[in-house]
Amino acid sequence: MRCDCDEHWIPITNFAGVQVRSGILPKKHLNFEMVASDSAYLRALLRCPVCSRHWIRQYPMPELQGSGPLVFIPVFAEDARAHFDATRTEMQAWRESFEDLGFYRSISPETGPGKCRDSSCDRLRSKYSVFCRRHHFRNLKGRDPQVP
Ligand SMILES: [Zn+2]
Ligand SMILES: [Zn+2]
Repeated sequence: MRCDCDEHWIPITNFAGVQVRSGILPKKHLNFEMVASDSAYLRALLRCPVCSRHWIRQYPMPELQGSGPLVFIPVFAEDARAHFDATRTEMQAWRESFEDLGFYRSISPETGPGKCRDSSCDRLRSKYSVFCRRHHFRNLKGRDPQVP
């Protein structure tokens, strides 16, 4: 019996990658062995019995209660189990920075002419705000945007 894990062995490091790979499943995934599961986060650590690679199977949109798209994330770490445990909240973090970037980009350009209301900031105001984009974001979300 052969597997096609090789064709799917593409690193996923952000939420854009998750979206691209969602629904693209290794053919033999139903034969994969369950190594560990984490039902609170709708994810499981699986192992292909043919090539012994480890995969994290996860629902990236937990609010859909497991009816949304499914993604298989290749595990490159030596210790798959430790990696699985250490990355519980990785999907959330990926998604948050993805959504932050979308929101940040939607804030109008800093055309001024006034300065940002934050006294420590010397950037111009965003067109429809009394703040620059970064401080407008912080004012609404209560934290800094996870954007470069
Ligand atoms: Zn395989
Ligand atoms: Zn500012």
